Amino acid sequence: MKRLLSFVLLLNLFGSILPAQKGSFGEIKQLQGPQNPRLGFVIHGGAGVITKGSLTPEKEKEFRAKLEEAVLAGYKALQAGKTSVDAVEIAIRIMEDSPLFNAGKGAVFTHDGKNELDASIMDGKTLGAGSVAGLRRVKNPITLARAVMEKSEHVMMIGEGAEKFAAEQKIELVDPKYFWTQHRWDALQQILKEENEKKVKAKGQKEKAKIDGDESSGSSQRSEVEKPSNRFGTVGAVALDKNGDLAAGTSTGGMTNKKYGRVGDAPIIGAGTYANDQTCAVSATGWGEYFIRLGVARDISSQMEYRAMPIQQASDLVIKQKLQKLGGDGGVIAIDKFGNIGISFNSEGMYRAYINADGKPVVEIY
Ligand code: ASP
Repeated sequence: MKRLLSFVLLLNLFGSILPAQKGSFGEIKQLQGPQNPRLGFVIHGGAGVITKGSLTPEKEKEFRAKLEEAVLAGYKALQAGKTSVDAVEIAIRIMEDSPLFNAGKGAVFTHDGKNELDASIMDGKTLGAGSVAGLRRVKNPITLARAVMEKSEHVMMIGEGAEKFAAEQKIELVDPKYFWTQHRWDALQQILKEENEKKVKAKGQKEKAKIDGDESSGSSQRSEVEKPSNRFGTVGAVALDKNGDLAAGTSTGGMTNKKYGRVGDAPIIGAGTYANDQTCAVSATGWGEYFIRLGVARDISSQMEYRAMPIQQASDLVIKQKLQKLGGDGGVIAIDKFGNIGISFNSEGMYRAYINADGKPVVEIY
C-alpha cells in the first residue's frame, strides 16, 4: 500500500515538472514545480461557433480589449494580495457589465423574450460554494452568488427568493429592461424563425410519409430543431492566489430560446464550476445539459485526485473524449495549485485569456 502511494505521488510530481510537451492530449502550458507556486489567472468569455471571419475586425478588437481588461483586473487584484475569490468576482463583474458577453448586461433571451441569469462561485480552500439561478433583476449575478456563499447558510438560491436576498444584502437590482440588447433580441428572432421553418418542413415530411406509408420518416428533425446554433458568451474565471488558494466562478444568461425555468450548468456546482485546493479550479461553458449530465468540472478535479492526472490531460479527457462522445460541445478553463493551466474545447472557438509565465496577458479566440 505504502509503495503504491509513493508511486502515485511520484507520478503526480512528474506530471507537474515534466517539460511542456505536445501529445494526444495537446499542449501542457506553463508548468511549474511544486517548489515554485505562483499567482495564476485565467478567464473565458464563452465557447461556440466562433470561426475566423465570423467576427468583424472591429468586433474582434472589442472582444480582445474587454478580455484583456478583465484578465488584467483579476491578476492585479491577486498581485495586490487579494484572494482568488476576490479576483474571480472582479473579472466576472467586468464581463457582466459588458454587452459583448452572454452574462449580466449582454444576457441572451429565453423563448418567451425574457432574460434569466445564472451564476456560481466556489472557494477551493473551504469548499464553500454559492449559486443563483433564474434571476431577472440582479445586475451582477456573480456578486449575489458570492453573498449566498458567504452570507447565507445555503448553497443555491433561485428566482424571486434569491432577488429578495439580494435586496437584503444591498446588492444592486435593476429594471429587467436593463438586460435588453438589440443583438440578443435579433438572435432570438432569428432562432424562432428558423425553428418555425423547421417545424413546418418536418410537418410536411411527416404528412408525406403518412401518404407514402413510412411513418418513421421525418423523426430525425427533432434533434436538428433542438440543437442550439446560436450560443456563446458565458463568462468564467479561475484563480490561484498568493496563499495557494484556488477559486472558480461562472456567470451566464444561459442559452438563447431556452424554455421557462430552464437552468444550465453554470450555477450547478460540479458541472459548470468547481474548486478544490487539493486539485484544481474549473469554469465551463457550452451546451449546459451535457455538462450537467457529465458533472464536467468535478470530473476534471476527480481525474486529478484519483488518477493523479495533469490538468491539461484531465481537461482534454473530459471535453475532447467524454463530452464529444456524448454529443455535447463547449470548453473549460482550469488551473491547479501550482499555477498549471488547462484549457480545452471541442467547439470551433472559445474566448479566453490568461496571464503567462512572464506575467503578460494572452488573449485567444480560435
Ligand atoms: N453553459 C451555458 C448554459 O448552458 C451556456 C454557455 O456556456 O454558453 O446555460
